[in-house]
Amino acid sequence: MLAFKEKVYKASLELIKNQSALHSWGNISAIDRKLGIMAIKPHRTNIKDLRPGDMVVLDLKGNLIDGRRTPSFDVSTHLVLYNSFPKIGAIAHTHSKWASCWAQAGKTIPPLGITHLDKFYGEIPCTRDITDAEAEKSYEEATGKVIVEALRGLDPAKTPAVLVYRHGPFVWGDDVDSALNNASILEEIAQMAYLTLQINPQSSAMKQCRIDIHHDRYTRK
Ligand SMILES: [Zn+2]
Repeated sequence: MLAFKEKVYKASLELIKNQSALHSWGNISAIDRKLGIMAIKPHRTNIKDLRPGDMVVLDLKGNLIDGRRTPSFDVSTHLVLYNSFPKIGAIAHTHSKWASCWAQAGKTIPPLGITHLDKFYGEIPCTRDITDAEAEKSYEEATGKVIVEALRGLDPAKTPAVLVYRHGPFVWGDDVDSALNNASILEEIAQMAYLTLQINPQSSAMKQCRIDIHHDRYTRK
């Protein structure tokens, strides 16, 4: 159990280090599918003040399995995603500047060039707005729901990120390293897309046939 907590603890530190979650605006979790448990940092804490043993472990229904503290409120969003996407192994949530600006503007990030296709197949979706009733019931659970809605018809492995309207990105991967890497790449792509549209506001998404060629090339093992 401690090794599992330690993995999430180290990834949480890494998230801060690579500037994806400044001021503790963000979190990362991992899941052990065999044991049916996930771990995340406690609510409203700075990871630098914590130790690996402080991580909170829950089952996939949100029941506390191990830990003394309240988990990050975002855990409800993470749980919806783990339950909806059975192959993902870790989730990073950040308020990284460029991706969050697209999210706040309510804009999907179009695939403007082949750098985008390194990890993302086609546009990176932005969710619809959460209704007042949904937010009142549980903003975090509704966040998970609108992410799942935004990915409908898409493969979570090929589109490992969604921008949550007026909030920020949720990014995932096979494990904590790939979730961290995808979060970092998303931020780079978000900045590049913004700058590209500044240079040429008429820039448009690449054609599907070209997206297929490049994405296939990048992801072929
Ligand atoms: Zn957030």
